[in-house]
Amino acid sequence: MSADLERQRALLAWFAEAQRTMPWRHPRPGPHPRPYAVLVSELMLQQTRVDAVIEPFARWMRRFPDFASLAAAPVDAAVEAWAGLGYYRRARALHAAARRVVEEHGGVLPQDADALAALPGVGPYTVGALRSIAFDRPAALVDGNVARVLARWHASEGDEASLRKRAWRDAEAELAAEDAPARGAPSQWSQALMELGATVCKPGEPDCAGCPVHAGCRAAALGVAATIPPPRKRAPVRDVFAAALVIVAQRDGRPHVWLRKQPEHGRWAGLWQPPLFEAQSTEAALSAAQAFAADAGLHLVARGEVEHVLTHRRYRVSVLAATVELPPRSVDAEPTRWSPLAEIRGRGDGVSRLGVRVVDAATSSGSSS
Ligand code: SF4
Repeated sequence: MSADLERQRALLAWFAEAQRTMPWRHPRPGPHPRPYAVLVSELMLQQTRVDAVIEPFARWMRRFPDFASLAAAPVDAAVEAWAGLGYYRRARALHAAARRVVEEHGGVLPQDADALAALPGVGPYTVGALRSIAFDRPAALVDGNVARVLARWHASEGDEASLRKRAWRDAEAELAAEDAPARGAPSQWSQALMELGATVCKPGEPDCAGCPVHAGCRAAALGVAATIPPPRKRAPVRDVFAAALVIVAQRDGRPHVWLRKQPEHGRWAGLWQPPLFEAQSTEAALSAAQAFAADAGLHLVARGEVEHVLTHRRYRVSVLAATVELPPRSVDAEPTRWSPLAEIRGRGDGVSRLGVRVVDAATSSGSSS
């Protein structure tokens, strides 16, 4: 057996023993009994850690156990059930994909690559994941973990983008030989590559001494594993100044908070949160919130500041609270509603993470004023 095929055999043997248990994982070779679960888990796992997905996945599968139940639900229910995962456009894409599967494929996920690629939210990586993990077909897949592993096996040079491009060629080459062990167990192979990247061949700190494919790895032989890929240049984080207006009223004997639905596109698309006034400075943001409050006849109390960091932005949000008897007049194009405080705190009800944080700051007894 060639060195490359020996490396495949070693990796598959290691994965059979070392794979982590995950609620969406089918531990044995062969097709997955529930392709729907593979699609749900793959979309949830994008940009999200495995341990953060386990509970939302279980909740989602109880609420939407198959394509038919998801397709029949309103999109807002899907967004709501996505609570805690962030990047809510994935929930919308999954919902749209379910409708397409029901309408065009009779509720059965297609196996054809082009048909899969036509589904909302399904890019080249997810096509490879579905074809290999769900249907056990020899299909290449490259995500961040796989790109790093393959770059190290070949001691490839270049920036992250060029390594990713080359990794696709390398991933396909692994499946090319008729007698390749990877070709004989495509589902296990894809998962083994990702598992190695997630648990052993980690960014910056590969455990080469404990690696099952150490003997077949060029970067390890050359002692350059930790420098592949080269460190990423981080885009600077920009400060955004804002004021949040948390308006509370007693309804049916319980505190409720007035929320606005965010526009369907952009940050926090389709989620709910208290009115947020963004501006060039804290002072300008506070003036905009105060002008709104004066117009609505609200008496405001300052409740400190929340710092909320996204990938490229740091929100510095001054929190203002008001208690009212009746809802303020709304001049919004977007819908508004009253949500029970307890549900917002429980991160349900389709409320953005920033929304939960400013409501917490405004309503917790320890808030500064
Ligand atoms: S030997 Fe080191 S660099 Fe090579 S695959 Fe294993 S952990 Fe990664």
